[in-house]
Amino acid sequence: MDLGLNGRWALVCAASKGLGAACAEALVREGCNVVITARGMAALEEKATELRLLDPAVQVLAVAGDIATPEARAAALAACPQVDILINNAGGPPPGDFRDWDRAVWLAAIDANMLTPIELIKATVDAMAARGFGRVINITSGAVKAPIDVLGLSNGARSGLTGFVAGLARQSNLAGRNVTINNLLPGAFDTERLHKTLAAGGAKAGLSSEEFAARRRAGIPAQRFGSAAEFGAICAMLCSQQAGYLTGQNILLDGGAYPGVY
Ligand code: NAP
Repeated sequence: MDLGLNGRWALVCAASKGLGAACAEALVREGCNVVITARGMAALEEKATELRLLDPAVQVLAVAGDIATPEARAAALAACPQVDILINNAGGPPPGDFRDWDRAVWLAAIDANMLTPIELIKATVDAMAARGFGRVINITSGAVKAPIDVLGLSNGARSGLTGFVAGLARQSNLAGRNVTINNLLPGAFDTERLHKTLAAGGAKAGLSSEEFAARRRAGIPAQRFGSAAEFGAICAMLCSQQAGYLTGQNILLDGGAYPGVY
């Protein structure tokens, strides 16, 4: 199916690796021009080169910076001639015990995983509405539906974003102008971040990283971790011309791990 994205411009945040990079790749494969961001310049440039090789007709721009800062957001927005598609993403907050978190730790998590996507949405959706096309995807986490005790910072900050988006996506001056806003909730995806989490979890449980990973996979009905490429493909589908009636949703990609009906 032609997703109708040829020639559109996407700003894909936190996209030198993992899920963000896979979203950028899926969009480039659809002929979409992209601005990708990340803090580390070397990996970002490497990813940009890889993406350019996929389709020489597509423009790929790389803007380095911490997307949780106003300066990096301004630079990313300035690099993108028009934002038709916004993929909000950033690293997840660290695990821990809430007794150890002071106000500064909470504010950092809220900044990266709630206020940054809201700022970027604020900077882009009215122009999308004026043009009659816009797609915003927020990469959040399965922890929004089934909180993970050690990820309290993520549970809290991402739930704040989810509540805000639920209201915003339903505004008729956006939904009525073909601007959709949806959240993609990853379960366990095979990325660098997952490998780090598995190594830390294994060390805590007295298991090797592979033993711990096997235990984790066994608890997922699909019996495997998701691949970043399949996450990117779903993201591109949600950004498609055809997905204009799908808004305000929380879409869980977890191989069936969430046990609830809704
Ligand atoms: P990853 O493999 O570690 O990749 C993270 C990417 O984001 C890298 O390109 C990184 O580059 C960039 N990045 C991180 N913080 C940034 C910042 N402040 N500003 C700009 N770029 C930044 O992680 P992932 O697995 O793709 O995870 C993406 C998001 O999904 C995270 O929020 C994570 O918590 C969430 N998630 C992932 C899973 C999973 O199983 N993978 C499950 C649930 C939720 P630099 O380090 O160079 O900036």
